[in-house]
Amino acid sequence: MDLRKLNERVSAARRATEARGETFYPGPSRVHLAAFPPKERWDDWVELDSKAWPARVEKRYMLVPTTCFNCESACGLLAYVDRETLQVRKFEGNPEHPGSRGRNCAKGPATLNQVTDPDRILYPLKRAGQRGEGKWVRVSWDEALDDIASRIRRALSEGRPNEVMYHVGRPGEDGYTERVLAAWGVDGHNTHTNVCSSSGRSGYHFWMGLDRPSPDHANASVILLISSHLESGHYFNPHAQRVIEGKQAGAKLIVFDTRLSNTATHADYWVSPYPGSEAAILLAIANHLIQHRRYDREFVRRWWNWQEYLEREHPGVAPTFEQFEGILRTLYADYTFEFAASESGVDAAVIEEVARVVGSAGTRLSTHSWRSAAAGNLGGWQVSRTLFLLNALLGAVATPGGTSPNAWNKFVPRPIHVPPHPQTWNELTWPREYPLATNELSFLLPHLLKQGRGRLEVYFTRVYNPVWTNPDGFSWIEALADDRLVGLHVALTPTWSETAFFADYVLPMGHGSERHDIHSYEQYDGQWVGFRQPVLRAARERLGEVISDTREVNPGEVWEENEFWIELSWRIDPDGQLGIRRHFESRRTPGAKLTVDEYYGYIFDHSVPGLPERAAAEGISPLQYMRRYGAFEINRRVGPLHEERVPPAELEDVAVDRFGRAYTRAPKPPDPNVVPVGSPDPDADGRRPAGVEVDGVILRGFPTPSGRLEFYSPTLVGWGWREYALPTYIRSHVHRSRLAPDQLVLIPTFRVPMQIHTRSANAKWLDEIAHTNPLWIHPQDARRIGVRTGEPVAVETEIGRFVLKAWVTEGIRPGVVACSHHMGRWKVRDTGQRQMMATVALEQDRGRWGMRRAQGAHAYASSDPDTLRIWWTDVGVHQNLAFPVHPDPVSGQHCWHQAVRVTKAAATDRVGDIVVDTKKAAEVYRSWLATARPADRYSPDGTRRPYWLLRPLRPSKDAYRLPERREPAGVSGD
Ligand code: SF4
Repeated sequence: MDLRKLNERVSAARRATEARGETFYPGPSRVHLAAFPPKERWDDWVELDSKAWPARVEKRYMLVPTTCFNCESACGLLAYVDRETLQVRKFEGNPEHPGSRGRNCAKGPATLNQVTDPDRILYPLKRAGQRGEGKWVRVSWDEALDDIASRIRRALSEGRPNEVMYHVGRPGEDGYTERVLAAWGVDGHNTHTNVCSSSGRSGYHFWMGLDRPSPDHANASVILLISSHLESGHYFNPHAQRVIEGKQAGAKLIVFDTRLSNTATHADYWVSPYPGSEAAILLAIANHLIQHRRYDREFVRRWWNWQEYLEREHPGVAPTFEQFEGILRTLYADYTFEFAASESGVDAAVIEEVARVVGSAGTRLSTHSWRSAAAGNLGGWQVSRTLFLLNALLGAVATPGGTSPNAWNKFVPRPIHVPPHPQTWNELTWPREYPLATNELSFLLPHLLKQGRGRLEVYFTRVYNPVWTNPDGFSWIEALADDRLVGLHVALTPTWSETAFFADYVLPMGHGSERHDIHSYEQYDGQWVGFRQPVLRAARERLGEVISDTREVNPGEVWEENEFWIELSWRIDPDGQLGIRRHFESRRTPGAKLTVDEYYGYIFDHSVPGLPERAAAEGISPLQYMRRYGAFEINRRVGPLHEERVPPAELEDVAVDRFGRAYTRAPKPPDPNVVPVGSPDPDADGRRPAGVEVDGVILRGFPTPSGRLEFYSPTLVGWGWREYALPTYIRSHVHRSRLAPDQLVLIPTFRVPMQIHTRSANAKWLDEIAHTNPLWIHPQDARRIGVRTGEPVAVETEIGRFVLKAWVTEGIRPGVVACSHHMGRWKVRDTGQRQMMATVALEQDRGRWGMRRAQGAHAYASSDPDTLRIWWTDVGVHQNLAFPVHPDPVSGQHCWHQAVRVTKAAATDRVGDIVVDTKKAAEVYRSWLATARPADRYSPDGTRRPYWLLRPLRPSKDAYRLPERREPAGVSGD
């Protein structure tokens, strides 16, 4: 909105009103209501107090940016800090944030509920009874820090680094904690990723050396989503707004989703496949493009590693592109529309029409797959691999409207101190059975501990609730309750969770407006960096106060992890003897403790291109700029980095192998974030990979071993998976041929738009909208079973059963049922979050667990009068408890879909009932483990894992070597 024009309009209105002899009130903001507050007025923004209406009472605010912590999108928020009370009155969007552009979903503004939740944890608590007994005493931060630090110090001093583990759910930051763990010298980083996106990542990783897509939806002519982007998918709001922009500009939207999601309702083509058949459809589309020569020949010739494929798999064939094309035409010839239809249940004519639409996109095909089908199925990693095959065929890679590798649209700055790689390998997170796993085998931890593969002296959970989020939660409880397996469990959490009940310390950490983090995500073809900050700290600093500890401004004694890690690290190594403390010392004042101001100030001063200049233009420091605006756009239109020429200065002593991979002795480029090159192995003479020669010119290429897009994966072949060398279709563990006649498939993976795992449960506005998770069931199945909407049904899994209400809908295929995973929160006592957690009775007898709801949500008196208005009681069922672990043998992803029997509930059943046998859970674990191909049998080179594959916290190269060299078994999975 043009301020000058607005002022003119306001002045004209004033004159007209006063000419009528009336009093003129121009509105408190003097800005059109549809406009964002202009940033020049963020120090003193005026609005009317809605509660005082009809009186016009003006309220003055300071607007302070931060970023939302309620999903991985990290959208910008603006906190409206009341200048009188210095309290946050509301959160709205930050128009200065390049990813979210001022827009948020319902969960962003609901940050206010999380801050004011009367049930939140405000002080450090220490367990007073048995683990899980629910008895706590308040302790000081000093007491907790000293106890935790001494146990870590002892473990490190006694050579037990693998007994220190940090397990994170939503990191919400880039690299801070990896840096902490590297400084401690532990390989103790554990994530939630293998219950989330490992398979989605894996398919991309084998193609391009980077594990995520960055689609340019806004400029696409065809958008193909294997997810529910318009309601809850990955990078939900930033992507959703660009998908809609693309549609407004005429793009066709194709959505693969077995459920009629909100996203599917916006699609031009809604494809509802039988779960697990998505890759069969994608290969039929690929086959159509190949047979009809609709692919981009030049792109395929230049960028696929077809020469390597021919030499290794067709050694007798002349290594020409024409020969490859001939073979390519045979590779997918069996993937006809009819075959895809028979696998998926989708009409062949519909698949054919979709194929034609995809073929019409040319280089403007934006695609995205993340959790969804990839996370549900055995072999789900082939869903993202076959999806990207379509981009690779059409040359729609890093083009306007195409799909880029994520790292080209993401920015990870270099921090102030960079500790060396840890010298150790932790088999509790990276067991040798899964050498190609995309991330840690986090959800197997209880089984690995119970098998005696290790123990934990100190185990941190942070924004993570494995008892509730992971499958097989009762096995988690059994492990967490056993202090021989877990010596000390520290839960770093802003709110109560099922896992925190089994901790020794519960330490209160801040929400999105109470902590520092930086992050950057691939949300369009550009690069930005965002800054999360404690907004009251920033507000009071604007008023001239000096704040040195975020606890000074947060409620109670709520802290933030970053200051906590610095303090803890000093106490682990008080005299610097362990070599840890130096990574947490000030550069400005040697010997003094690093502060978050210096940590982030250093990054913004030294590591973010363009930021110092932009800040200087406003006469402020880069840190002040980020505190004032919350985000900075580094690049817009990054484009095809793989086509960039490698400058001669980076090609000293260059050697090019027969497939074109170029190696050099020149040092790496100064800023690996601008042109990420990954970590493929050096050549035999120790030169590092520098690029790839294409038509006689050395270009940046992709960070794969070949430098090209790897249609053919020598890595998969070399590590025993020859049958998956090319993008292909793997029949899921819930393929119809594997189901008994009376079994259905349960889809348990989908999100609802207003909830996000554990921490949104303490947001009353969200809870009122979405608080239960009925079973979606098709009318045909409902009739057969004899249930109607609202009636209870029992769902039987491999290890137990649960009871929930039915929702009869044609929005799901016959033979498939679905249940959102957000609900079914519980507690065993009334301590805990009360708006969304039922109180349950829990019983256990030698691995036979039973849960029954004693009381649902209910109205209660608290500091917030709204808690007396809670009208809902049903908070859904915790279905994940009844799922055994299903580790995919390649990606390591938990394959979520379940083969189930659904029956009308018995008279003795009650909604919320859960019964599970953890002995059976252990049997299922062992049966899936037996399908793995372990490194000590299949490694081609005596290492635990291909070095070029990404790892969140990479240990030293020595640690990659298996302790004992065994003879490789060869290839083909024999
Ligand atoms: S999409 Fe919603 S929950 Fe996610 S960061 Fe943005 S506002 Fe927050």
